[in-house]
Amino acid sequence: MQNLQSKIPKIFYSEETEGLHKTCIMCDDLILKYEQGYIIEKAFKRNEKSNKFDVIFEYALCTECQQSLSKEMSHKSMRNIQQYFLKYKSNISGLNSSESNISKRLSNCMITNIDVNKMDEYQIAGQFYKNSMIVFDAFPFAVGEIAINEIQEMLSEKTRGFSDKFKDLILPPNVRDKIPDDRLVFF
Ligand SMILES: [Zn+2]
Repeated sequence: MQNLQSKIPKIFYSEETEGLHKTCIMCDDLILKYEQGYIIEKAFKRNEKSNKFDVIFEYALCTECQQSLSKEMSHKSMRNIQQYFLKYKSNISGLNSSESNISKRLSNCMITNIDVNKMDEYQIAGQFYKNSMIVFDAFPFAVGEIAINEIQEMLSEKTRGFSDKFKDLILPPNVRDKIPDDRLVFF
């Protein structure tokens, strides 16, 4: 598989520091020095008052922690979700790391192709190596609320319990109770 690199788009910057994410949310390792790469996931929800999107959670996760988390998910859930993404992979327009292609990937749901700005809720994810973003067929992408709901339906009970635990880790306390339990997507 061919991988391209680009600089990290600002949308993946930390809301808190407005700079690059620096540590893994689980192990606190310094991801900008880490040799194995990391992922960032970020979730947005429309604020009914301002009509703009608020970031409801975001995290960077090093590859080692991502792999140990994947082991906790049930095999059935993992397989279902992988097949779901595989089915829609063709929606992603060719391998191209130009700024316009990346911004298109991050503004259209990879499953439904709907512009995420027309939705109330969406998530983006990317894979990174030090201070670069890796561009390949699977990442980066956006998924909107329809796809998020479909993915949640594929998760087994076991995986759902695990996602609650992970939610406790990544959500700031002031929003934890406002986010429905079924709003996490794993990669
Ligand atoms: Zn880690």
